Amino acid sequence: MKLKDRVAIVTGGSKGIGWGIVTVFAQEGAKVVVVARDPKAGEQTAEEIRYKGGEAIFVACDVSNEEQVKAMVQKTLDTYGKIDILVNNAGVGTYKSVLDTTSEEWDRCLSIDLKSVFLCSKYVIPHMQAIGKGAIVNISSVHSRATVNSVAPYAASKGGISALTRNMALDYGPVIRVNTISPGWVLTPLIQGIFDNSDNPAEKQRFIEQRQAMKRIGTPEDIGYATAFLASDEASFITGTELFVDGGLTARVEESW
Ligand code: NAP
Repeated sequence: MKLKDRVAIVTGGSKGIGWGIVTVFAQEGAKVVVVARDPKAGEQTAEEIRYKGGEAIFVACDVSNEEQVKAMVQKTLDTYGKIDILVNNAGVGTYKSVLDTTSEEWDRCLSIDLKSVFLCSKYVIPHMQAIGKGAIVNISSVHSRATVNSVAPYAASKGGISALTRNMALDYGPVIRVNTISPGWVLTPLIQGIFDNSDNPAEKQRFIEQRQAMKRIGTPEDIGYATAFLASDEASFITGTELFVDGGLTARVEESW
């Protein structure tokens, strides 16, 4: 088991990609702290892990709120006594151009997607330094590198996460490794919502699948396996990097002619 007895905080761990990460982490022997706002989905995910023989607790926390982040870190320490791994995964999509985005929408997206990475890292890093070891994995997006029209706040947040990752890797190495995973399309409630808002959800999904080199959309577990690798000792010489887990999406420059 790659993560035996490691204590891992996974923000946004209740659903979607976060659910895939906590599920794989628990299979790999980690004690998992599932962090999200909605207690119903969060408790259900933690219970699912315990039912399968793993160890998990749910902690309700809005990761854009400094006081709640501090309390979440303290609850983790009170329960498990240490923190080995932090996965900054919680995020929301705001798909608008600069002209269409209000400053409230901008602040909300940047707070949940980017400031949260700063806040959770700020309050976890001292506890990793105290045990002389730690791994942080930040979940960014393909939008950190290349984007589409009208996703300005989201693309800015994700570009910021990738840059922040490189900076934290320099500041906190060699004790703490910090890496980014940038997923492409992964079938989660967030993406299902995008499909459901289209005229023909099934057709929209088929269209997206055909644009991937792997001819499918990713699963939450695809991201979970990559995150478990980067969080484990198998990745002990990997820091400050960005791993694209995107089925080949960013390999394409444009449609073939
Ligand atoms: P999702 O299905 O909407 O799940 C989002 C998770 O984040 C939920 O657990 C949600 O729980 C939590 N969350 C949202 N706001 C939060 C807050 N303020 N405080 C604490 N938790 C919060 O999204 P997803 O598709 O799994 O995406 C997860 C991450 O992957 C995001 O950072 C997203 O940008 C990134 N990503 C996704 C894709 C994709 O194709 N799905 C692709 C690239 C990158 P609560 O609502 O209960 O708080």
